[in-house]
Amino acid sequence: MARKCFISFKTEDTPYKEHIQGIQNLDIIDKSLNEPIDSEDENYIMRKIREDYLADSTVTIHLIGTKSAETLGQEEQKYIKRELQSSLYHGEGNTRNGILGIVLPDMYSRVYTGSGICMSCGNGIATVRVNDETTIAEFHKNYHIDPNKCHYTENDRYCILVRWDNFLVSPEEYIEMAFEKRAHEIAEQIKVRV
Ligand SMILES: [Zn+2]
Repeated sequence: MARKCFISFKTEDTPYKEHIQGIQNLDIIDKSLNEPIDSEDENYIMRKIREDYLADSTVTIHLIGTKSAETLGQEEQKYIKRELQSSLYHGEGNTRNGILGIVLPDMYSRVYTGSGICMSCGNGIATVRVNDETTIAEFHKNYHIDPNKCHYTENDRYCILVRWDNFLVSPEEYIEMAFEKRAHEIAEQIKVRV
């Protein structure tokens, strides 16, 4: 069964969003938050996003492009931050979404910086830069949930991360991985507003 997905993206990455919408057998909600909700009440705005945009979706696909970094500014990232916060929210009438972060090709060299030896435990690790310089906090705080770990396994993460090229090989598999995190015990440690 196809999981209903919402795509959170910056306008610069629209061609990638459209490409995903064209993939057979996926169930993608064709909406994005480009029209501001006319309110000063942040709680109201968040509720409207959940009701009008995320509704029955269970997975949020977050496109990680060159304009998605926290360091570009809170105002600049207002929409994608709200979309991820709403996606992570778990409450009455709204269950949390799984989060699938897709690293777009222009970001490969900034996110995947090679491999090395962990300075703390001596194990071999892949170096992945998922932080304020590459993503918004809503994503990376739920990718590196426990800040005291020297490094992480998939069981330590709520968010799933995948390269664009790998995603295209088996999109349903990665969407399912994100979907399954909703019921995983790590979901108890989600950080919604960071
Ligand atoms: Zn280590």
